[in-house]
Amino acid sequence: MDLKSGYPFWAVRNGLMTAFPKLQQDVKCDVLIVGAGITGALIANAMTSAGLKVCVVDKRDVAWGSTSASTALLQYEIDTEMQDLRERYGDADAVLAYRACAAAIGKLQKLAGSLGGVDFQPMKSLYYASHWYHRQRLVDEGELRRQNGFKVTTLDRETLKACYGITASTALLSEVGAEMDPYQMVHKLLRRVRRAGGQVHDHTGIAEFKTRRGGVVATTGEGCRIDARYLVMAAGYENERHLQQKVARNRSSYAYITDALTGSLGGLDDTLVWESARPYIYMRRTGDNRVLIGGEDDDIDVPMRRDLLVLSKAKTLQRKAQKLLSNLDLTPAFAWAGTFAETEDGLPFFGAHTQHGPRVLFAMAYGGNGITYSQIGSEILTATVQGKSHACSKLFSFERLKRI
Ligand SMILES: Cc1cc2nc3c(=O)[nH]c(=O)nc-3n(C[C@H](O)[C@H](O)[C@H](O)COP(=O)(O)OP(=O)(O)OC[C@H]3O[C@@H](n4cnc5c(N)ncnc54)[C@H](O)[C@@H]3O)c2cc1C
Repeated sequence: MDLKSGYPFWAVRNGLMTAFPKLQQDVKCDVLIVGAGITGALIANAMTSAGLKVCVVDKRDVAWGSTSASTALLQYEIDTEMQDLRERYGDADAVLAYRACAAAIGKLQKLAGSLGGVDFQPMKSLYYASHWYHRQRLVDEGELRRQNGFKVTTLDRETLKACYGITASTALLSEVGAEMDPYQMVHKLLRRVRRAGGQVHDHTGIAEFKTRRGGVVATTGEGCRIDARYLVMAAGYENERHLQQKVARNRSSYAYITDALTGSLGGLDDTLVWESARPYIYMRRTGDNRVLIGGEDDDIDVPMRRDLLVLSKAKTLQRKAQKLLSNLDLTPAFAWAGTFAETEDGLPFFGAHTQHGPRVLFAMAYGGNGITYSQIGSEILTATVQGKSHACSKLFSFERLKRI
């Protein structure tokens, strides 16, 4: 599957940080993790810390899938507003999902601190009304979140203009959010996994897997056999190939980055910015004072078309972003695009699917806050392998499909 168009910024900036060996012999382990993107890396780290023996394989270089294309805004705010989730699943589950995401950011911060050098920065998050007729919806959303303990301020037009230079009828300003370099995070996590006794192999694709009593047997493209008690499919958007049931929809998403700017970026210095329209435009700064802007999603993902559109989409993003932040030079220096999958309700899937039975666990961190979901998934799947449950196990399982 062609996951990206152009060379993503993180890989170009960081280069090939670590070379992991190709698997060349049979292996026995507790958990085979297929996929060394941010999801596989967080799961491998969580499972290793829990004392499990893991083997991580990736058919590409480590972090070379969607993770290298990610703009890596870390938000507790799900693409589906809390009020919409409440309508679908009731108060308790809507609040559970939002709280889990907020907690995940704190956990990612702790993890990033322990690894060092992954450009992790706590940020605020500004969600502005794209249209005047979204105003009441945002006011209600802010109220609902505050009732449930989230620190959210509803900004009026004047305050928004004065603090952020953005013209809109209202916006919600949240205290919880962050940004990081997802590529460095993966490399550093997997080095840690390896130091703790786990195995990590790139350029090692899983050609097939079969369940057997008490476990799974997988075979690599080059014929090595891996015996594991559990198989975790952290294969990103390629996971869908292994399920007959359609659980998500693929789109193309576009992004670009500016050159490093001198001086203050105004509100962007400490705030992630996104909007209430769907698809939405979003912005953040990077550790080296560039502005990263993304959005302009296509409804379907056609890699050839995506390749052709990268530059014109970057220009459209620039035009829209420049309208909001006229004082900054937002000229694109580098643009790229990637596949991006979304579920119907904006929530991820973590766990077993009836098609493969209880020993094959899927990690589908799909949606706008994929990375935040990956953190939650690492906890859910570690608990599952340990025979424990997690507060989000049920809500983020395939069982939810019966309720959609
Ligand atoms: C343009 C763009 C912007 C985004 N912005 C954000 C954002 O701001 N915030 C956010 O939270 N999320 C964002 N996302 C989503 C986020 O990037 C993804 O949720 C995340 O990177 C998915 O990580 P992953 O590890 O699940 O998948 P991947 O990074 O794709 O990793 C899966 C790995 O599995 C490997 N694999 C697949 N099949 C096999 C096989 N058979 N054998 C061996 N290996 C295999 C692949 O080679 C790949 O490396 C964005 C995505 C895109 C494309």
